[in-house]
Amino acid sequence: MVSREVQAHDTVVRFGGAAIGGEKFAVIAGPCSVESESQLMSVAEVVKKHGAVALRGGAYKPRTSPYDFQGMGLDGLKLLKQANQQLGLPTVSEVMEVSQMDAMCEYIDCLQIGARNMQNYALLKAVGESKKPVLLKRGLSATIEELLLAAEYIYDAGNPNIILCERGIRTYETATRNTLDLNAVAVLKQRTHLPVVVDPSHGTGVRELVIPLSRAAAAVGADGIIVETHLNPCEALSDGHQALTGPMFEQLMQELKPFVEAA
Ligand code: PEP
Ligand code: MN
Repeated sequence: MVSREVQAHDTVVRFGGAAIGGEKFAVIAGPCSVESESQLMSVAEVVKKHGAVALRGGAYKPRTSPYDFQGMGLDGLKLLKQANQQLGLPTVSEVMEVSQMDAMCEYIDCLQIGARNMQNYALLKAVGESKKPVLLKRGLSATIEELLLAAEYIYDAGNPNIILCERGIRTYETATRNTLDLNAVAVLKQRTHLPVVVDPSHGTGVRELVIPLSRAAAAVGADGIIVETHLNPCEALSDGHQALTGPMFEQLMQELKPFVEAA
């Protein structure tokens, strides 16, 4: 069902005023994790001011180490809802398990399936039944075909509002956190009508590489990016080294202007 052979025209996924997959290149931005009211509100204001169409922020965090910050949970979801109500920016946040679905659907506009859960079929079915827009991230070592079949689970459960996300894959290269597979964007745009966004933050793991790879994502034909931003990345509770600062986010938007403003 997600194949171009079934539907030739591009799907546009809409939530709360954001449109992913249309003519305009969409920028989703915000912190890796929701950390506090002041942290979230201040960064949300900055990304909104410079043209982000949606706010990202994790409340349930899939951390590699059990001793790292695990996210604010329900309190984080409530802060995202507060940011949405105060600023009018729709929100994207990760759902890690089926038991979180009710709270996620109450507080969040677009449900992210993280890379580590791309093949959690119970979760794919649950978000499929919910009908909420879904941002489905490619697994750490998943093929493009496996990503498309994961999307097929969501579609088959009744939810056609799926955004695919290339977020870098595991390779032998160690200079960057992951290897951002821009081939995948071009391949996906050929094979599926679903919108495709790129995550240059997790794709590189290096703040200084995020702007160049964002430009590359726009050039290769992605429908947008999802990018981590933090006003004080040195103090961030997760992924600080790959977060853009406020001024860097402003520069990013300046450089993407021709794509973001396309008619
Ligand atoms: C995230 O978006 O913060 C995240 C954990 O992403 P991924 O699932 O791609 O690692
Ligand atoms: Mn992160």
